[in-house]
Amino acid sequence: MMLGYFYHLFAEESLIDGQRQVSLMLTKSYANSMWASHAGFVQSAASLKREELQSSDEIRHIHRDLRMLLRGVNILNVTLLDVSGLVVYSTNAEQIGDLQFADSHFRSARNGKVISTLAYHDVYKTNRGELQERHIVTSYVPIRILDAAPVEGIIAIDSDTTHLISAMYTQQIRSIGWLILLMSLIYMLMWVFTKRSDRLIHEQQLQREKDLEHMRHLAYHDPLTGFLNRASFTEHTEEAVRRAKRVGWTVAVMFLDLDRFKLINDSLGHDAGDQLLCLTAQRIRDALRESDILFRMGGDEFTVILEDVKIPEQAADVAQRILAVIGKPIELKGEEFTISASVGMAVYPRDGESANYLVKCADTAMYRAKELGGSCFSFFSPEMNERVENQLKIETALHRAVANSEFFLQYQPRVCARTQQVIGVEALLRWKHPEWGIVPPSRFISQLEESGLIVPVGAWVIKEACRQNKAWQDMGLLPICVSVNLSSRQFRSESLVNTVRMALAETGLDPSYLEMELTESLLVDNTENAISLMHALKGLGIALSIDDFGTGYSSLSYLKRFPIDCLKIDRSFVTDLANNTKDAAIVEAISALAHSLGIGLVAEGVEDANQARLLQGYGCTEMQGYFYSRPIDADHLVEMITRISASAITAKVA
Ligand code: C2E
Ligand code: CA
Ligand code: CA
Repeated sequence: MMLGYFYHLFAEESLIDGQRQVSLMLTKSYANSMWASHAGFVQSAASLKREELQSSDEIRHIHRDLRMLLRGVNILNVTLLDVSGLVVYSTNAEQIGDLQFADSHFRSARNGKVISTLAYHDVYKTNRGELQERHIVTSYVPIRILDAAPVEGIIAIDSDTTHLISAMYTQQIRSIGWLILLMSLIYMLMWVFTKRSDRLIHEQQLQREKDLEHMRHLAYHDPLTGFLNRASFTEHTEEAVRRAKRVGWTVAVMFLDLDRFKLINDSLGHDAGDQLLCLTAQRIRDALRESDILFRMGGDEFTVILEDVKIPEQAADVAQRILAVIGKPIELKGEEFTISASVGMAVYPRDGESANYLVKCADTAMYRAKELGGSCFSFFSPEMNERVENQLKIETALHRAVANSEFFLQYQPRVCARTQQVIGVEALLRWKHPEWGIVPPSRFISQLEESGLIVPVGAWVIKEACRQNKAWQDMGLLPICVSVNLSSRQFRSESLVNTVRMALAETGLDPSYLEMELTESLLVDNTENAISLMHALKGLGIALSIDDFGTGYSSLSYLKRFPIDCLKIDRSFVTDLANNTKDAAIVEAISALAHSLGIGLVAEGVEDANQARLLQGYGCTEMQGYFYSRPIDADHLVEMITRISASAITAKVA
């Protein structure tokens, strides 16, 4: 609109200016060619009366002359005024004799200026009649012979610019039309563009929300079964307890562990194990009410929160139902299997209030069910309290133990079966509690694993074992190998390879004097990953062994794909070796296996000379057990090795 306004102003201005030029030229021609013959009459006209003036002959002369001058020029009216403002002549005869002295335009012209103005007239009178709705430009032009000469008269010229104005309006409207069209087009383009970007932004937003939702889902759900995971459990239980407190409900927490799941997993493979877990999870879910919540805590462990159980017996019914559905036959790899579960239950408010405490109670009750032979359920009872309290106490104390460096290592010698020399040691973790004294690993390793503390503590073990071994070498002892136990949690942590690399680098121990003991169970979970991780560890130059071999039911075909250096036969096969022919057969088979794979064989838990002799006969390359030495402190080990070497030297000399 502003643009339209400026256009209008500019167009009008140039139109008026054009008319001014025309009027100026006309006046110049008039002054040059005709004024001399009219000047006398004009200057004396004031002495005549109006009627005399209108009817005088001179008027007709002027009229004739002007008509000649104006021929072919688009002029409506011409008025000739004397310097006093008297209209001496006008093409509109009616005006002759009028006085225009007061007219500001006239006065300006009288002072030598050329004035042109545009005005709209509803009715405009000419000598040929009236014209309607006209846009007239009127120019007052002073008449003088030379530019600097005095003004002798004034000519007022009216030109009709109506057609020009209307053409201008049409042009303006057309321009505005085009402009509007252009603007609409731009607007439309902008609209399309913004709509598109809006859509893109919206899509991006949706995608982001979807990603976030997916990540949230991953964080709180078990990827295998799709049910809630351990991370969600505490939150849900606390929420359920809060609700129960408000409304006076009872909440039951159920802990469920499959019996002998490992057997199926190991013998049928990981995929079948996964399939079994998914199917079982779904069966449990189907046996529950809508409001009950199922969690997979990891491995073959599940928990269920039952809200608003009127009496504990109601929870017992649910447990029965779950045991029944789990017990239905399952087809895996074309074969039919039946499995069972052990269920433990704890009830709020009877057994405890906090989520953590309740789940510990349920877990303890589940162990009771396992002790009863599995395939049954058990409620938590106050007699079990001690175990739960202990577990909780240990958990709290372990956190402090890490901060207070209450851990230390003992070393159990590994002796060469042939030479009876100490050729290695196994580093075993010890915890010295300020009040309880030395706590055995069986009481705290699993808790370290559950809490994740095993990762930093395990890293400390690796570094400390490397440091100690390097220190022995620096003392001048014959180099021996130190082996370190790895828990599955450590094996799964991304930092393991780096932890080992750093420990070697920082202590300066040659990697060939470090061995990692892995358990079979740690290798059956996600075998491909395990193999690549083992190769990465081997790449550092260290040795790998499989600990407690024979207890894990691992598929022997995997064994040849593992880059391992030796097998450690589990103590359980050694203990009764002399009397139990089955154990002897197993040891013999393991020995043949190690032999065919070309790897070493260590017997663990050798307690007497007879076992040692038998094991040597079966081809064991190394021995470890109380018969040689209990796990001892680093200083004692130096003493022991020196003593053995001395006695070996004495024996040789003798
Ligand atoms: P393991 O790896 O099988 O270690 C051997 C265990 O058998 C040690 O028990 C050792 O004292 C015991 N032992 C050795 N010779 C004999 C024997 O002749 N007779 C009998 N009855 N026992 C013998 P310990 O030190 O109580 O360790 C128990 C378990 O704790 C270890 O079993 C290992 O699985 C775990 N552990 C110990 N230290 C660590 C560690 O630093 N990290 C991890 N992840 N686990 C560890
Ligand atoms: Ca071990
Ligand atoms: Ca072992």
